[in-house]
Amino acid sequence: MAKYDLMSDKAECFINPQNIEDVLSHARKRSQDRALVSEILEKAKKMEGITASDAALLLLNRNPEITAEIFALAEQITDAYYGNRKVLFAPLYLSNYCVNHCTYCPYHAINRNIPRKKMTQEEIKAEVIALQDMGHKRLALEAGEDPFHNPLEYILESIDTIYGIHHQAGSIRRVNVNIAATTVENYKKLHDAKIGTYVLFQETYNKKEYERLHPKGPKSDYAYHTEAMDRAMKAGIEDVGIGVLFGLHNYAYEFVAILKHAKHLEWKYGAGPHTISVPRLQPASDINLADFKNGLPDDIFLKIVALLRIAVPYTGMIMSTRESEHIRRQALKIGISQISGGSKTTVGGYAAHDNTTSKTAQFELSDERTLDEVVNWLMTLGYVPSFCTACYGKGRQGVDFMSICKQKQIHNFCTPNALLTLAEYLSNYASDADGIHSTKYIGAQLIEAELQQLPETMRKVVRARMEEAIKGNVKFV
Ligand code: SF4
Repeated sequence: MAKYDLMSDKAECFINPQNIEDVLSHARKRSQDRALVSEILEKAKKMEGITASDAALLLLNRNPEITAEIFALAEQITDAYYGNRKVLFAPLYLSNYCVNHCTYCPYHAINRNIPRKKMTQEEIKAEVIALQDMGHKRLALEAGEDPFHNPLEYILESIDTIYGIHHQAGSIRRVNVNIAATTVENYKKLHDAKIGTYVLFQETYNKKEYERLHPKGPKSDYAYHTEAMDRAMKAGIEDVGIGVLFGLHNYAYEFVAILKHAKHLEWKYGAGPHTISVPRLQPASDINLADFKNGLPDDIFLKIVALLRIAVPYTGMIMSTRESEHIRRQALKIGISQISGGSKTTVGGYAAHDNTTSKTAQFELSDERTLDEVVNWLMTLGYVPSFCTACYGKGRQGVDFMSICKQKQIHNFCTPNALLTLAEYLSNYASDADGIHSTKYIGAQLIEAELQQLPETMRKVVRARMEEAIKGNVKFV
């Protein structure tokens, strides 16, 4: 049996099943020990993160007072590291052709109930223009794994197309990419294509369950999939995004494994994951949720979000429109730093080239609001919606970004940039149809209030740059 070793690049060593079971067994035995729990919470209050073992123990604790303390602390940490800034993005589905047989995904190769679609470069242009016209600056590219329909060359060409489109005041400044695990050589090509974050969900870290859920196709190789981030980082990609699909396997196992994966990347490559995503299984074509016995109730799901924030305070956390407004509202408070808005999970859904697109969705949306509605909602909750991509443009990625974040210096960079990009959004895209409830009006008030919080010298600089940002003269890349 392989030995636990966080510095190894072998999946069975850094995600070591025996080690995870040992962590969980200790957590089960000691999780109701009030003195130990208090000791861990004291460590967590330093806001420097806690170990997977300590986090697992808090996860399994059943005392409602402790849970309330965990949520309050997660809120404080979110505020200390990220302030009230929330980054917005949209997914862009390029193709739903896929050769894999993932049992939880409607794109699986033998689903005959969905039309297959791969966008041409012209269709991608139309999609990107539609996204730019909404105000988006940051995209997450999605495509099934299919070497014939979606080879890497197609993905690279699409990235090039996307970066090249500037419709009116629009531009996409950061393209994150969520495609299948691939080789170091291909990751180098993605790096050279100037992607933002490379995102790959593990789905489940439990090898046996992984193999059962992926019976056929290249993705069925657990080790190759789990070691993908090592290859990506060796290829020079500095920002990687990890996550599991909650609902596939036991949540406590997945929780510990995510933290082990994060620690492995941090120790071995100097920077942990840029983001952790927390998708939950959703209804979709040819997927029967009753076949999955590990559904995660809302209260545990939110506790996981809070504990991830406590365990890895400097890692961004993403929640998509899979979750309802109600859940997103709570999750934003306790740790989520990025959310999607106005999303379509269909291929060609933004420009709606044809009437079959709705059947090409990867999952059903629980939050169907437009981007303008999401921006408006965030501001009424007191958040500053941010379209900023400046860190990526200025090369503050990987180790550099982590070190700024760990020193809680992200405010200095992000708050002014968030305000500038919000001003840009308000001027070019926001609705003003609803008087004092309009996004434009609320946004103007919010920006003024935020400016008042800045030191005077910075306030003057930001105010001056705001005019320029609105005219499109400030470069965020
Ligand atoms: S999860 Fe990804 S690899 Fe699996 S069937 Fe869906 S698109 Fe294909």
